[in-house]
Amino acid sequence: MRKIRVIQWGLGAMGSGMARLVLEKDGLELVGAVDMRPEFVGKDLGDVLDIGRTLGVQVQADPGAMLDRAHADVVVLATTSWTAEQMPDLRRILTAGVNCVSIAEEMASPEAQHPELAAEIDALAKAHGVSVLGTGVNPGFVLDLLVVVLSGVCHRVDRIEASRVNDLSPYGPTVMRTQGVGTTPEQFAAGVADGSIVGHVGFPESIRMISDALGLGVTRVEESREPIISKVYRETPHVQVGPGMVAGCAHIATGFAGDKPVVKLVHPQQIHPHLEGQDTGDYIHIFGKPEIHMATGPEIAGGIATMGLAVNMIPHVVAATPGLKNMMDLPVPAALMGDTAYRRRV
Ligand code: NAD
Repeated sequence: MRKIRVIQWGLGAMGSGMARLVLEKDGLELVGAVDMRPEFVGKDLGDVLDIGRTLGVQVQADPGAMLDRAHADVVVLATTSWTAEQMPDLRRILTAGVNCVSIAEEMASPEAQHPELAAEIDALAKAHGVSVLGTGVNPGFVLDLLVVVLSGVCHRVDRIEASRVNDLSPYGPTVMRTQGVGTTPEQFAAGVADGSIVGHVGFPESIRMISDALGLGVTRVEESREPIISKVYRETPHVQVGPGMVAGCAHIATGFAGDKPVVKLVHPQQIHPHLEGQDTGDYIHIFGKPEIHMATGPEIAGGIATMGLAVNMIPHVVAATPGLKNMMDLPVPAALMGDTAYRRRV
């Protein structure tokens, strides 16, 4: 079996972990690495990943001639959350005839918020005979794919409610800022109003995928973001939160079919939830026939899961028919543990 040749584009927290995982997989070969960080550019990827050996792959600020179907089968893109921001790179990748897996949250279902960009991506991919997939732990798995898969046994679904309760403590300053951790309640309200505090990115995308997959006919999504006010002192290396300050953001999105709420997704994210007795976990409730209740605890680890999913989907993306895909379109994800895992087809 020929190995699938992978370019890792974006070597931050997620991309560096994906590159390490690609190196562990017999069926994958890491042929290129791209990141704009000056401290990475020109270095051997092995040194950037700190794996104790060189790889003979130099990190480039620009992929240059490497970005060609003659050299690479797929790019794994881990640079941003936003479809519009990713478009210049995406246009180059697809035009070069190379497939793409992106972990940008909005790319999980770009038609949810950017139908014109989704149409352009789909057309470009088809014109050049490649496919592109947006994935990640959420959106891409917990609050959409798992929900859809569980509904597969239902005769009827009246309403879905799913929640992901997680711990933000491992994350860096950008996440603290965009979740409003460490603000006063007044600063939180101002941040939500001016768009600097966004909470979770991906609810419209998850609801769109669920609605389309089941045919629920969601026509409108309403979102609310409330501060999680701490009663106790909490801290991480990046933020300190005193009693009365904001420890996180409780973000809720509801999808309506007409006036009827049919999908409710709940994502309270805070630092050190256990300090106030809050366990983490993922919970899916499907009301209909039969009623289904699924719970995992603690939460499925977000960063590790995103790396795993993006890498595990590579063979499916390379084998897919051309065009823009989402997690509902391709074979179910599975860990790449051996030969047959690379040969599954729809
Ligand atoms: P990060 O900030 O640690 O890393 C991003 C890296 O990309 C940086 O090294 C940066 O220099 C590089 N970069 C940015 N734009 C670039 C460009 N145009 N060309 C080359 N390099 C570029 O971020 P991260 O934690 O690795 O996450 C990456 C993105 O994935 C974030 O936006 C994050 O929100 C998203 N994400 C999504 C999911 C999901 O479930 N879908 C899960 C985790 C992360």
